[in-house]
Amino acid sequence: MSDRLAVLEPATEAVLAEVPRAGVDEADEAVARAREALPAWRALAPAERARALHALADVLAEHLEELAVLEARNAGKAITDARGEMGMVVDTFRYYAGAPERLLGDTIPVAGGQAFTVREPVGVVGLITPWNFPLTIAAWKLAPALAAGNTVVLKPAELTPLTALRFSELVLAAGLPEGVVNVLVGPGRTCGQRLVEHPDVNKIAFTGSTEVGRSIAASAAATIKRVTLELGGKSANIVFADADLEAAAAAAPSAVFGNAGQDCCARSRILVEASAMERFLALLEPHVKALRVGDPLDEATEMGPLISAAQLTTVASFLDDGDPVAFAGSAPDGPGFWHAPTVLAPVDPHARVAREEVFGPIAAVIPFTDEADAVRLANDTIYGLSGSIWTRDGARALRVARAVETGVLSINANTSVRVTTPFGGFKQSGYGRELGPHALDAYTEVKTIFYATGE
Ligand code: NDP
Repeated sequence: MSDRLAVLEPATEAVLAEVPRAGVDEADEAVARAREALPAWRALAPAERARALHALADVLAEHLEELAVLEARNAGKAITDARGEMGMVVDTFRYYAGAPERLLGDTIPVAGGQAFTVREPVGVVGLITPWNFPLTIAAWKLAPALAAGNTVVLKPAELTPLTALRFSELVLAAGLPEGVVNVLVGPGRTCGQRLVEHPDVNKIAFTGSTEVGRSIAASAAATIKRVTLELGGKSANIVFADADLEAAAAAAPSAVFGNAGQDCCARSRILVEASAMERFLALLEPHVKALRVGDPLDEATEMGPLISAAQLTTVASFLDDGDPVAFAGSAPDGPGFWHAPTVLAPVDPHARVAREEVFGPIAAVIPFTDEADAVRLANDTIYGLSGSIWTRDGARALRVARAVETGVLSINANTSVRVTTPFGGFKQSGYGRELGPHALDAYTEVKTIFYATGE
């Protein structure tokens, strides 16, 4: 294997950078560096670790525009989206900078002394991340892991390693000690797999496909490694006839075509009450046709290209199954991995496009008859990550929200992710929670200490 990796720009197919490519030996070296840095990092006074994370947030904020441009070019995402994402990276480090001094334990009444709990870092954590939100998803793992006193080896996706590499320089510029954060650019099947099997790695935090997640969980079992998995999705956007249909139709495109549909929370199944189907589609069409698809660095762009030629082939294959195209937006010609935003309607719930994660800009609109039918269809999937409910009936909104088997849901909105609230999946969308206060559970072990007082 070549020891250089050519990183492409998806909007042009040109080589954006060439970087060194690691193998198993480099993975072992990165783990050794993280292990060596662990005792001093975990022993740092809580306020000192908090200060280090604030300093890192400051440095990232100073470089926000540079990171946003790099991310937009490497991942092919709209620059306005990339800026928002880099803002979230900064906010995530700031939020978890508050954590070292708030890692509270319990005191528990027992006979003969005092029992209490403390939270210990897990140790060396391997972070394996995808190409769709490269630095953002890394930050969701890095910030709570570091706040809790762990050291890390981050393996970004080979398609999008550039912001992670720049991040590793900014970590040192912010004054964090060498070895606390190690970035390893190499293939998942060698470097990633080595992290999963390595006896000196205590935990793996992974975001990516359900298929790779499954194999990571199986390999990690050999060393009883802690694992958190954030995997695929096939989320439903449920629109009842009594909803504000104008608002639901205006919001639906960004919920499925945002990041060119390469989003584990994409609402790629739009379930619409049959009596409102015609009106909803008429309201949706102009919004889809108006979507500005083009150069990621153009301030007006709303959707960029897909990440790779392989992803384009996979996404395009969903149009070969004969499901009816209701309408589509536009996409540029020429170089770049472009696919127009496309709406299929009405789609049979058994069709492949209604069951598999597309990870591209294709929405399947599926009619339902009543509330029970909507819930049945929404839950008829192996996944359970996100979703939305649009209705003016508050009691129904809450009934359906409790009945839908997903980790995050929005009512009359399409948001999934906030720095301060937990995020993660039910069913084969994974396990463990990121963000919010709950993420710290995934990066700490609870230790119980009993102190005999001789009573
Ligand atoms: P993968 O799951 O293959 O990649 C995610 C990360 O895992 C990458 O860093 C990859 O490394 C690494 N990896 C791959 N194989 C292994 C392994 N055996 N052991 C350890 N790490 C490994 O996603 P793909 O890029 O192949 O995307 C395929 C599909 O996955 C998408 O179409 C989409 O459906 C889904 N997906 C879901 C995501 C989500 O947010 N939940 C994100 C990305 C993809 P590398 O790529 O460098 O080899």
